[in-house]
Amino acid sequence: MFEEFERELRNLELNQGVQIPIEIAIDEKGYLDRSCPHCECRACFKVLFEDWRDKVPDAAAFCPKCGAKDDPKLFKTESQNRYFHEVAKAYLVERLDKALSRAVRRTRTKRIGTGFFDIEMSVSYQAGPTPVVLPSSALEVLRQDFQCEQCGCRYSTIGAAHFCPACGHNSATADFEQTIDTILKGVDSLDEIGLAVTDKYDIDVGANFKKKFLENQIEDLVTLFQRTSEALFSELPNANSIAYNINAFQNLRRGSELWHSATSSNYQNYLTKAELEEMTTLFERRHKLSHTEGMVDQLYVEKSGDSAYKVGQRLVIRETHVKRLAELVRRLVDGLREIVAESNS
Ligand SMILES: [Zn+2]
Ligand SMILES: [Zn+2]
Repeated sequence: MFEEFERELRNLELNQGVQIPIEIAIDEKGYLDRSCPHCECRACFKVLFEDWRDKVPDAAAFCPKCGAKDDPKLFKTESQNRYFHEVAKAYLVERLDKALSRAVRRTRTKRIGTGFFDIEMSVSYQAGPTPVVLPSSALEVLRQDFQCEQCGCRYSTIGAAHFCPACGHNSATADFEQTIDTILKGVDSLDEIGLAVTDKYDIDVGANFKKKFLENQIEDLVTLFQRTSEALFSELPNANSIAYNINAFQNLRRGSELWHSATSSNYQNYLTKAELEEMTTLFERRHKLSHTEGMVDQLYVEKSGDSAYKVGQRLVIRETHVKRLAELVRRLVDGLREIVAESNS
């Protein structure tokens, strides 16, 4: 009596990789939500659906934030994963159910899937342990759309991005101005966005969001500077003859020495000693934020020269810090562009 059921089970087993048609949600601009599979990053971003389908190779996709390279199938968001599992389960249940029904010669109906999954997750913002789903007004300000200058892939992120999801191209130089503008626009609208988050959640989530947002902007600016100077440095005619460590441009002293060894110009041609010290302090603060949750230790006090804090305090990032760092980064990058132009003329 259960022969048909057993046959169906065997078919499913033999048919490794059963194809299940799945409807997938895209946003109003035609973008698909993606999430970085790297355990430390997990950044949410979006890729124009047709570019994800046509431009991203089967072998690997890249995270625009951290550059992690992995199987494109692993870039599903948590809600997409949940939805896919549900659909797959419902499909299998129905297939087995049908076989079983036929076997016992009675009919039963079964509803399949739930249709579109909740696309709200796409716009979540990691502010503390729980992701905050940003109100759409905030997204309009913070969303940055990119198109890769190498392969044409179109993608969006909240805040800065540095790599094309399809080809991994470091897009920092081309997107530099736009990224700085988006960061500044976000800071200028922060009170408004904070209010919208408070309205949606509560005052603590709103306050935590604002704090985390400013910290993230400092991180974004440091990474933006690192990626941009790396990309500009590689445009120097003699770049290949100079060996350097992958994180060299995160360190201002080390970066300046590299430029000097390649071109005889260095950061002091563009920023004063005091400005460079200020920038070093802000870079060190970012380092503490990402490695010790912002807690000040002896090493920080020694390396940053920051006299505003004592060991054991927690760093506080203000809007003025973000704006000041944006200004210094912009001036220094303008200077580096000049060096590259002169070296190639
Ligand atoms: Zn990532
Ligand atoms: Zn590309």
